[in-house]
Amino acid sequence: MELYAQSAYELTRLLHSRQVSALEILESVLKRIEAVDGRPGTLDPGEFTEEDRRKVHAFITLTAERARAQAQEVDRKLAAGEDPGLLAGVPFTVKDIFCVQGTPSTAGSRILANFVAPYTATPVARMEAAGGVMVGKVNLDEFTYGSSNESSAFQPCPRNPWNPDRVPGGSSGGSTASVAAREVPLSLGSDTAGSIRQPAAFCGVVGMKPTYGRVSRYGMIAFGSSLDCPGPIARDVRDAALMLQVIAGQDHHDSTAAALEVPQYVALLEGGVKGMRIGLSPDYFRIAIPDIQTGEYALQPLPEAFSAAVHRAAAALADMGAEIIENVPMPNTRYGIPAYFVISRVEAASNLHRFDGVKYGYRTSQPVQDLRSLYRKSRAEGFGLQPKLRILMGMYVSAAQYSEQYYRRALQVRSLIRRDFEQAFDPQGEYRLDALLTPTTPTTAFGFGEVYGDTVLMQYADQLTVPANHAGVPGISIPAGFASDGMPIGIQFLGADFTEEKILRIARAYEIATQSEEWRKACPQERQ
Ligand code: GLN
Repeated sequence: MELYAQSAYELTRLLHSRQVSALEILESVLKRIEAVDGRPGTLDPGEFTEEDRRKVHAFITLTAERARAQAQEVDRKLAAGEDPGLLAGVPFTVKDIFCVQGTPSTAGSRILANFVAPYTATPVARMEAAGGVMVGKVNLDEFTYGSSNESSAFQPCPRNPWNPDRVPGGSSGGSTASVAAREVPLSLGSDTAGSIRQPAAFCGVVGMKPTYGRVSRYGMIAFGSSLDCPGPIARDVRDAALMLQVIAGQDHHDSTAAALEVPQYVALLEGGVKGMRIGLSPDYFRIAIPDIQTGEYALQPLPEAFSAAVHRAAAALADMGAEIIENVPMPNTRYGIPAYFVISRVEAASNLHRFDGVKYGYRTSQPVQDLRSLYRKSRAEGFGLQPKLRILMGMYVSAAQYSEQYYRRALQVRSLIRRDFEQAFDPQGEYRLDALLTPTTPTTAFGFGEVYGDTVLMQYADQLTVPANHAGVPGISIPAGFASDGMPIGIQFLGADFTEEKILRIARAYEIATQSEEWRKACPQERQ
């Protein structure tokens, strides 16, 4: 197998046994990127060509020279007998919502297109300190506001490696596309409503949103500060565990990063599921969309292939000794999107205030009369549609005369969602779950232009993922086969606070149970 196609775990093994060097791994990956990625996203892309439509376009910035220096340093350490770290020589990409010193850190927005970060985000710094080799910054929806990557100011935006006519999902679509296309084994993403898990499901890779506070947000450009979680994206569960091991833990730069010890995720991975209680909830097998006129919810069952994938997984886990608990009520799941719509807009509007054309980023070149018009023009020209919509909505629902009705109410609903999880996972309660097993998304990856433009519909792509962000609990999405349209299906395990090692273990058990199934042999390239 080519080096670029190996797992992170295998690469570190090859490196430690001196069968390859970090530089050789890197060169293989750079060649792969050159072969499949096509041109990077830019602000002024001009005409799209036929070739553009076939390529992955994961990247905004390739940092090949920086990566070579890092790989050489790993090789030097190995030669000198020093410990090169847990991720020694493993190439990875970083969603361009994280600051990395000396590199453009754009958030996929014109307003930050010229912003070169003066410091490095903690999770990236930890990966680099562990010997990881960052090869570049990858595309995303502008400020992570989207579920398809189409809203990026940098075009061409990423395409789904399984089918270039489909979106990779979002907002960490550049991350999941780069991993699915076997450009890199690992990528750092962020999840505010599902932005790691949804594109992971769309691209047939593993994506994990850790517990809120498990991974530091220092250096991550903020969207919804009470919801945002950085997390790992990989092709298998072991690689996700390895990456989480490196990025998790307390950070004095972020007071919300939990002061808890980080378990040995990799060592605990193959403990099996015997005796574990895994729940299924009817509330995750349908999608509820409110009728704007009546306020009533219309319930739509998920496509058969999605429930079937979940039930097959439940049966496989039961065969391995898990107990499956059916009919776990999660009645507030359906309010996750409306509550998110309000809370995330308020937090987004507040976080976007800092982009004013003065401190950093884009400044208008038009004549201005005063400071206020400098702000106005810079923001009007620098922000795309999504940030503008979110500022308007966020200001509206938090305005003095409306905040009781909208913002406070949304916070109350958020507590109810949290309570659903507390009851399901309560060790003294009726259900005593170790994990809840659900589909990750209600559909497979949609086509370009199919959902884009309908903000409400786009938001419903996150209905099954957003409850975990409200509640702060961890979740992992893993591939579970393909739908009849040939696109990957993801299933999700949700756990109680700080039980990442448990849901990783369950996800790994499922991987082992299905490792010889036919669908596991499929590779994106063969499908194109
Ligand atoms: N689809 C979500 C939104 O548009 C993206 C959330 C995320 O996790 N960043 O708000």
